[in-house]
Amino acid sequence: MHELSIAGAICDAVKEHAGGDDIALLRIEVGTLSGVLADALDFCIREVARAEGLGEPEIVIDQIAPRCLCACGLEYDCTEILEGCPSCGGFDREVTAGMDVLIREIQTEGEEK
Ligand SMILES: [Zn+2]
Repeated sequence: MHELSIAGAICDAVKEHAGGDDIALLRIEVGTLSGVLADALDFCIREVARAEGLGEPEIVIDQIAPRCLCACGLEYDCTEILEGCPSCGGFDREVTAGMDVLIREIQTEGEEK
């Protein structure tokens, strides 16, 4: 399962950051083009976190819409992947966001206010 290996990688990074503390909150950014299902990732992180002794963090997943950089120089939100550039109508573009899974924020129990 794709999400499980991503959850494992996230928890490895989190574990390093936490230095033994329980995790209170984890904010993850999931690009809608990453192919990762937010619900599945949420579930997998919970499972891995518990197995790794990281506590039971609140998990916030932000879904990031894709952004494209067109050959004409316009960067735009590419919410409809089948539509061309809003300026020139072209499809000669590079996807600049929305393909990755990133950790945005880690709060450990020790840091919680
Ligand atoms: Zn364009």
